[in-house]
Amino acid sequence: MSKVLDKAETNFIFCKQCGIIISYEVWYKRKVRNRDNWDHCRDCIATPKKVEVFVHPSLGRIACVPYVGELNEQWQPINAVGDLYLPGERICGHKDCVNSAHILKPEPKTVSDVDLLLGLIEIQDFSKRASA
Ligand SMILES: [Zn+2]
Ligand SMILES: [Zn+2]
Repeated sequence: MSKVLDKAETNFIFCKQCGIIISYEVWYKRKVRNRDNWDHCRDCIATPKKVEVFVHPSLGRIACVPYVGELNEQWQPINAVGDLYLPGERICGHKDCVNSAHILKPEPKTVSDVDLLLGLIEIQDFSKRASA
């Protein structure tokens, strides 16, 4: 080994498949030993990929990857400790699909349009009453 890789600022690397955090040490050792899927987390490595091709009514031909691990009551993939694996809405409609291209990452919670609209109505109502 000639040169030690520059250490990432955070000491953590994100799994290429699912985006979960992998510790830098684990990631680096795997990379150096040239392991298969060295840039994937343990959950992803433990998950064999079996691609199934579907014809979706609006998306056309799509390749889905059904999760082979455990599912929760909502048929969503969970990992060994019961946390959601690759959370997010599936555009393909398969709740157990782990093709990252089919998964819409959950948005951070913000004020919804409805809340904004209701707020506007309230303000208008208030100013009407105030001017009457
Ligand atoms: Zn992963
Ligand atoms: Zn899919």
